[in-house]
Amino acid sequence: MTLLDLIYPRRCPVCNEVRPFGESGACPACLEALSFVSQPACMGCGKELKGGGSYPFGGEEYCPDCLRHKRSFSGGIALLNYNEAARKVMAGLKYKNRREYADFLAAEMTKRRGRQILRLGADVLVPVPVHKKRRRERGYNQAELLAKGLSKRLSIPVRRLLIRTENTQAQKELGYEARQRNEERAFSAADCEGIRRALLVDDIYTTGATAESCTRALLSAGVGQVFLLNMAVGVRRD
Ligand SMILES: [Zn+2]
Ligand SMILES: [Zn+2]
Repeated sequence: MTLLDLIYPRRCPVCNEVRPFGESGACPACLEALSFVSQPACMGCGKELKGGGSYPFGGEEYCPDCLRHKRSFSGGIALLNYNEAARKVMAGLKYKNRREYADFLAAEMTKRRGRQILRLGADVLVPVPVHKKRRRERGYNQAELLAKGLSKRLSIPVRRLLIRTENTQAQKELGYEARQRNEERAFSAADCEGIRRALLVDDIYTTGATAESCTRALLSAGVGQVFLLNMAVGVRRD
């Protein structure tokens, strides 16, 4: 307990209620409402495979989206299935200046998937950048906060290797192909010589278009392999 905890009491990242003195993280009911990704999960994006949604493919299993679209990343780990409770955490982190929610997510990711992440033997954590204009408005990049929270716990350095080169239009209305074309031009990577493995960190994974574009930029700048770390994976289809 520090002085800061008294000035800024800890809040539940789902319902935003103040947590009892000395407690942090989500309150028991909200923790229950969060749906953590369980196995089997997609060997591509890390999305949980529901019964009937998985297909054998070279002895491994992939979700329908990863079977349909070619992926340049080598695999992924995801923490939460995107449900109403997860939506609240992400909305707080992204739009309501609840930066401390990143710490909750990084702690849960480390607790539940830390060993698996360390087994990947990655050299760096690379946050997916937001566009400069959005960063200015928001004051921070949520993916970077997540990467820093993970770095502190897993002792993997954060490197901001990617930059966003164009302000992409709102992606929500676009289909996968249009989204991919739109995202294609959106990222470039600094010189990545000597980096064998990078973990690309983002808050939400939906169609995979952003992750794919970031991965291609990193690979063409010299990174050997890219794996994804996503706090939530969406079920929305394009
Ligand atoms: Zn709560
Ligand atoms: Zn997948």
